[in-house]
Amino acid sequence: MPDRRVFLQRAFAVAATAFVFPRLARAAAPAKFSAYPFTLGVASGSPVADGILLWTRLAPDPFDAEGPGRDDIEVRWEVAQDEKFSRIVRRGTALAVADRAHAVHAEVDGLEPGRWYHYRFLAGGEASATGRTRTAPAPGRDDDRLRLALASCQHYEQGWFVAHRHLAAESPDLVAFVGDYIYERSRKGGRVRTHRLDNPRTLVGYRLHYAQYKTDPDLQAAHACAPWLCTWDDHEVANDYANDRGQDLDPAFLERRAAAYRAYFEHLPLRPSVLREGGEYRLYGAHAWGSLVNLLVLDDRQYRAHQACPRAGRGGSNVVGPSCTELARPGRTLLGEAQERWLDGALAGSKARWNLLVQQTLLVPAGTPSPEGLKHWTDGWDGYPWARRRLLDSLARSRAANPVVLGGDVHANYVADVHADPEDPASPIVAAEFCGTSITSEGTSAKRVAAIRAANPHIHFADASRRGYVAIDAGRDRLEARLRVVDSVHQPDSPVSTAATFHVEAGRPGIAG
Ligand code: FE
Ligand code: CA
Repeated sequence: MPDRRVFLQRAFAVAATAFVFPRLARAAAPAKFSAYPFTLGVASGSPVADGILLWTRLAPDPFDAEGPGRDDIEVRWEVAQDEKFSRIVRRGTALAVADRAHAVHAEVDGLEPGRWYHYRFLAGGEASATGRTRTAPAPGRDDDRLRLALASCQHYEQGWFVAHRHLAAESPDLVAFVGDYIYERSRKGGRVRTHRLDNPRTLVGYRLHYAQYKTDPDLQAAHACAPWLCTWDDHEVANDYANDRGQDLDPAFLERRAAAYRAYFEHLPLRPSVLREGGEYRLYGAHAWGSLVNLLVLDDRQYRAHQACPRAGRGGSNVVGPSCTELARPGRTLLGEAQERWLDGALAGSKARWNLLVQQTLLVPAGTPSPEGLKHWTDGWDGYPWARRRLLDSLARSRAANPVVLGGDVHANYVADVHADPEDPASPIVAAEFCGTSITSEGTSAKRVAAIRAANPHIHFADASRRGYVAIDAGRDRLEARLRVVDSVHQPDSPVSTAATFHVEAGRPGIAG
């Protein structure tokens, strides 16, 4: 196998260079830790055909805001074909940057497409846990499969992360986490454990919050099982915030948001290229899985117009009827102009067999009847009906093949057909939607879900009573979605089962059955 040999020689040559001449931003201190430093686990993300982003953070005491000193610390990483690291294909060094809470974001290239790898970090004579990750298939290949796990909404207090343990045991190729990775506020009652800190507002506060979440072994297992794609929703900062405005109308909100965004980056396997000028975090982008799947990750928080018709003296969401005329103002955006333009181009240029919109919340209308007409919750797409129209027009114009919308946020499983005119059930079906339930966060009442279902015939399945994730299996001709649910998040060893399975057939938009 000459190709393979040449590849390995190249990999070793490049790795050796990287090892002898580490590119250090400034002198790194020799690593010496008061305790085991890899307490927050490892993670990987943003796979491409020849590379991956590896993450860890040095935290000998996860709850010590000082961290392991004021200096950057050099960390070694290794990527191997086998679990025992006897066939290492890439190795190098990266800096755990003091200014980033000693987080490491190491970009690895020179890997082979479409294969699994094992990785670990080494520092101060200690080794991290071993993670599994994989590269995307080579461009032009569509005979592959993608087994994708869709997860969101993990309030630490409201349950054990047992769904993550089951997710990891299924060994998906990729995990898409679509928001509410942390919750800033504590909840009263029904708690299985408590936040150390309620309602952080500073960088130190958000770091402590993330550290607490990331000490959870089931969450660590979900990160170590496969690469992740991430986007955020509101609770990574504060409930119902919109762009530059919090629901409490705090005049210092942008400072709070900057602290929260920074802590988010420090704790997730994101490429440093997400950091943009002016404090922007560019989470939206396209991720190719060969030519089988194009995953279009969206960000509907950072750039959105403020919610329509908030309660008096407040920002944030409301439930409004037809009297809220602001709702129908055409210019209101959920993605922001730049992201709308980008998405339009990305859809138009997509040659993939499946186009997955990986975004935060329920796309299809979910109004509830009232004497004055349908009432809508203003925080989701229902609060931005013209932005939804523009998205669907863009989808139709692009002729992107087999679009499927994935979401979260509403703490319920919704399976729906998306119509060209989303409010007209007689208009053609253009996409299928799977909105996944929460890992732990509590759902809304069965009564409300029944009312939503009854008023919205495009919704085929709705259940807010159970927690879990969605296991998606995309092949050439068919996409399958299994709604995986746990018995109870109050039981750390709760079993998992499949509540329902749905299919989408290539070439036939919408839910096939
Ligand atoms: Fe949530
Ligand atoms: Ca949310």
